Amino acid sequence: MMAEISEAERKMQFLYALRSKGVTDKNVLQAMETIDRGPFIKGIFAERAYEDMPLPIACGQTISQPSVVGLMTQALKLSHRDKVLEVGTGSGYQAAILSRLARRVYTVDRHSRLVREARALFDTMKLTNITAITGDGSFGLPDQAPFDRIIVTAAAEDPPGTLIDQLKVGGIMVVPVGQSNAVQHLIVARKTEDGLEYDELRQVRFVPLLEGLGKDT
Ligand code: SAH
Repeated sequence: MMAEISEAERKMQFLYALRSKGVTDKNVLQAMETIDRGPFIKGIFAERAYEDMPLPIACGQTISQPSVVGLMTQALKLSHRDKVLEVGTGSGYQAAILSRLARRVYTVDRHSRLVREARALFDTMKLTNITAITGDGSFGLPDQAPFDRIIVTAAAEDPPGTLIDQLKVGGIMVVPVGQSNAVQHLIVARKTEDGLEYDELRQVRFVPLLEGLGKDT
């Protein structure tokens, strides 16, 4: 039988894994310490919530690996004044972390069931600065644009032009780019007066950014 480990020990191991994979920003680590990943994972995988692994969620989707959530959040260089758009709500975990570091978070998913479940968690956790919306996030949210920061948590074949248009000058967008089922690269794009500056963070594996609304399963 596995030895029971205490809550404090589990938390320490979780934070240690984040640091050892390059999540070093104090504010990001603090947000990830505050937001419990447990409630975002339902069913048989719940007991693995504190491992640094992506896990299955409803609608055939996945909750990202915590260290990847940390690295993407860190790359956004958030300030408490920022209005952020997330494409790909999924479990809501990434949005919850963003909500601790930004002023306002808009998160969009093509599966209404995921949006509904994430909303319920945000309510329970009293994360009142998140708005979760069902829709095709590749079109962004024209009504709320422009955004200071945009994070896409599904893989696009190219950095989506519509989203770049909805990013402020001086803004940062983080997006996994590449074919699904192949190697994808985590791209950090900074918008300047003259165009975009790109940086590549590391290889990742995300579910694909798909068109239209999803069928809830
Ligand atoms: N950020 C999530 C993980 C996202 S998994 C978390 O913290 O748990 C990727 C999500 O992107 C899936 O839920 C999928 O439904 C969604 N997605 C894929 N294409 C989309 C699109 N065009 N618009 C909105 N959401 C999309």
